[in-house]
Amino acid sequence: MKVDCLIVGAGPAGSMMAKEMASLGYDTMVVEKRQEIGAPKRCAEGITKHGLDKFGIKLHPLCISGRIGGAMLYSPSGKRVTMEGKEMEGYVLERKIFEKWLASEAIKKGANYMIKSHAIAMKRHNGMWRVEIQTVEGKKSMEARLVIGADGVESKVGKWAGLKTVNKITDYHSGIQFEMANVNAEENYIHLFFGRDVAPLGYAWIFPKAFSSNVGLGILEKGAKMKAYDYLIKFIKEHDEFFKNAQPIEINGGGVPVAHFTEMVADGVMLVGDAAQLVNPIHGGGIARALHSSIMAAEIADKAFKRNDFSKEMLKEYERKWDEEYGEKTEKLMKLRNFLEKLEDKDFELLADILQGEDIFALTQAKLSFMVRKVITHPGLLKLAKKYLMD
Ligand code: FAD
Repeated sequence: MKVDCLIVGAGPAGSMMAKEMASLGYDTMVVEKRQEIGAPKRCAEGITKHGLDKFGIKLHPLCISGRIGGAMLYSPSGKRVTMEGKEMEGYVLERKIFEKWLASEAIKKGANYMIKSHAIAMKRHNGMWRVEIQTVEGKKSMEARLVIGADGVESKVGKWAGLKTVNKITDYHSGIQFEMANVNAEENYIHLFFGRDVAPLGYAWIFPKAFSSNVGLGILEKGAKMKAYDYLIKFIKEHDEFFKNAQPIEINGGGVPVAHFTEMVADGVMLVGDAAQLVNPIHGGGIARALHSSIMAAEIADKAFKRNDFSKEMLKEYERKWDEEYGEKTEKLMKLRNFLEKLEDKDFELLADILQGEDIFALTQAKLSFMVRKVITHPGLLKLAKKYLMD
């Protein structure tokens, strides 16, 4: 079987790519190893409104399980800083529906899907890629001029194409999460908790949904004294004010690649979303970037089809475009992450005393000039910056 474009993975990146390619008129096939698109979720399901509006995505109302008007940040001792404003507005998705909806949008444009179909190998054959797929009907092989690796954090497509796709273990957050019923957290806000004993080198969260909440945390193993799961249990036990009468109704988890690697293309291959490790290195959010990477990749793929040139050099334009849009910001955020990783609990307390919600928003957006002005005018911050940034 031959297709123009074979997409491995039907997460947000894969289905957005499928929608774009099918809209452009290409024969597009998506293979998804799971029996059900969207389940199990490995996500706290938060996304900013801006992250969707930017690409003109109008969600089906059933994809939305909660609304976000702001964030409440908690220091290790429980001091709270509230962030509000237009930029903070967003949604807590119902990903099991969101991913099915995205797939159905792609199918309406003409994309084909094979579920419970696991890509297990891929090799070059007459200038095309031949992909071996384990399906419910047995093994099949499929040839494509262009293969899209939308296969998430555990991506194999990049590896099969000879790309260096694994970062240091320290660049992956371990994420673990319960969906819980009857959590007593203020709706309309996401709640983020910091501290070495809460979630070392990461943070814990509560994202309220329609009738439940995602309660989870991400940690870096290098700062941890126990497993992520044990930190989560401890977090829940220590916060009766939120969880006294709550019970888990789902458990899920996964790795979050918080450092981007540079190679996103090979001959006839493009990586999108988590497969290219494109998440925001500060908060680990990856849905919006996954969607955007596919929109960008499809634009370059279209050029490649029109020129009948699927060489790495041709496809590199996608990588350059990505770096133009996100390179500098990601680099700044990586530096900021390195800084935040060095902070001790007493430093978080100091930040909670000094910073306002808008300062923290500026930080997460890598608006460093704004922060520099803040640092210069505050002796406590200046001391902190000297301690951690000047070594
Ligand atoms: P994925 O969603 O991982 O999709 C990859 C798909 O490929 C999967 O369906 C998989 O089954 C399929 N696949 C893999 N290999 C094969 C194969 N060989 N053959 C066929 N199919 C294959 N991001 C946010 O924006 N907001 C959040 O609140 C948030 N919370 C998170 C919480 C946790 C605990 C974790 C782990 C991540 C979180 N993220 C969050 C990150 C977000 O989930 C990812 O960035 C996003 O899912 C990336 O989309 P994707 O399509 O690239 O990859």
